[in-house]
Amino acid sequence: MTIPPERAFFSPAWRDQITGLPNRQQFFADYKPMPGAQLVMLTLAEPKHFDELMRAIGHEYAEDFTRAGALRLREAIEPDTNIYHIGNLSFAFLLPHGAMPELLQNITDIFNKPLTCGRIPVSADIALGVADCQDSDASFVLRAGIAAARDCRDSGHDWARYNRKTDTAHQRGFLLLSHLNSAIQAHDQLCLHFQPKYALKTGEPTSAEALLRWRHPVFGNISPAEFVPLAETTAHIHPLTDWVLRNAVAQAGAWAAKNIRLNTAINISPRNLTRRGFANQVAKILNCYGVDPSSIELEFTEGVLVSNDVVVLEELRALRDTGIRIALDDFGTGFANFSYITHLPADIIKIDKSFIQRICTDERAAMVVRSLIELSHKLDYSVVAEGIETAKAYDLLKSWHCNEGQGFFMSPPLDAARFAKKLNLDSVPLPLVIS
Ligand code: C2E
Ligand code: MG
Ligand code: MG
Repeated sequence: MTIPPERAFFSPAWRDQITGLPNRQQFFADYKPMPGAQLVMLTLAEPKHFDELMRAIGHEYAEDFTRAGALRLREAIEPDTNIYHIGNLSFAFLLPHGAMPELLQNITDIFNKPLTCGRIPVSADIALGVADCQDSDASFVLRAGIAAARDCRDSGHDWARYNRKTDTAHQRGFLLLSHLNSAIQAHDQLCLHFQPKYALKTGEPTSAEALLRWRHPVFGNISPAEFVPLAETTAHIHPLTDWVLRNAVAQAGAWAAKNIRLNTAINISPRNLTRRGFANQVAKILNCYGVDPSSIELEFTEGVLVSNDVVVLEELRALRDTGIRIALDDFGTGFANFSYITHLPADIIKIDKSFIQRICTDERAAMVVRSLIELSHKLDYSVVAEGIETAKAYDLLKSWHCNEGQGFFMSPPLDAARFAKKLNLDSVPLPLVIS
């Protein structure tokens, strides 16, 4: 799509103020589907890094970065090819005969030299996405270009083509997120399953881990491993955790009322702790159901420690002060290292199933788990092994004095009724959840 300059700039409103390039509206006005042609989308940097740049050198110089990026791109492509400034950090242009790998390589190479902001050299971190221009919908083509540029960034390759499969997965994620709020309100879409943990020495059940389930009216059962990380990227994680807390604590209250001695373990996202007042919120819910804090375990992943955020550490301490026990979930998969392990604000270490599943077949994994149990005990942590799938793994962990275990060998997660049957807790009425 080659547009004479007077046509490209016919309206000043359709020109970007910073770079002087035609903007997204102009792209929409100019775009016509062209089989065989391709759109190339270039993003100059991760938005997060651009924010850091603005914070360090201010808006004016950061604008220099965008301007310098546009000029650098101009050097690499034919003068009669229009470059559109699509968004703050993104530029697009069309290649009538398809994207040439040499051209894309050339663009990557010329951006290896830093751009200049004021007099400060700043490295760009470009991503290049390529999308076909067959579709008559200009906004779809732009979105496909942005999706491809995102894939390029995620893969670490020099450039990426639009991939319908990854795009569909993203779209599904977006759809799920937009339905999550109504699922929380709906009463019949979310429920908790419970998986027992056992004292390995005695074989007695010690606690029940509440695991969230979502039955979507169209998509069917959706794994928490899919929707919880999505919710964690948005503020939805707060009402979602509130729902889990209320329902799990209501169940804990129903067990306590029947004199059933069973702790309840609840998964909490590290993001929940970044909001001041979380410990208070938990205390209120426990109070509401008359549940003893010492019967509650809150499971966090190691990500909770990475930020070293003052609020997070204060909230963790406040939770522990009430008598709640803190477990570090999926231990060994994240970022925790030996400097953390000496002073974790936690009581329990849950060794991740990826280690436990290998202890019978991989001597080195067995050695790591055994040493980790010994080390944790010396540092006064109780140890839980998750993902016990065989009698052999159970026996090994028991011989290594691991305190508790959880896994399909003993029981998968079950709905409340089947859980009660499995543990012979029959006749516990369903809890009444107060909202
Ligand atoms: P998690 O907290 O580490 O939970 C253990 C996961 O391992 C569960 O998957 C459980 O079904 C599975 N599992 C248990 N025993 C075995 C075993 O022997 N073999 C194998 N292969 N798997 C086993 P699930 O229920 O799909 O949950 C996945 C993750 O989703 C959880 O990992 C947790 O991180 C998150 N999640 C679940 N419910 C909640 C929730 O209410 N809130 C939050 N924030 N996260 C949740
Ligand atoms: Mg857990
Ligand atoms: Mg886990």
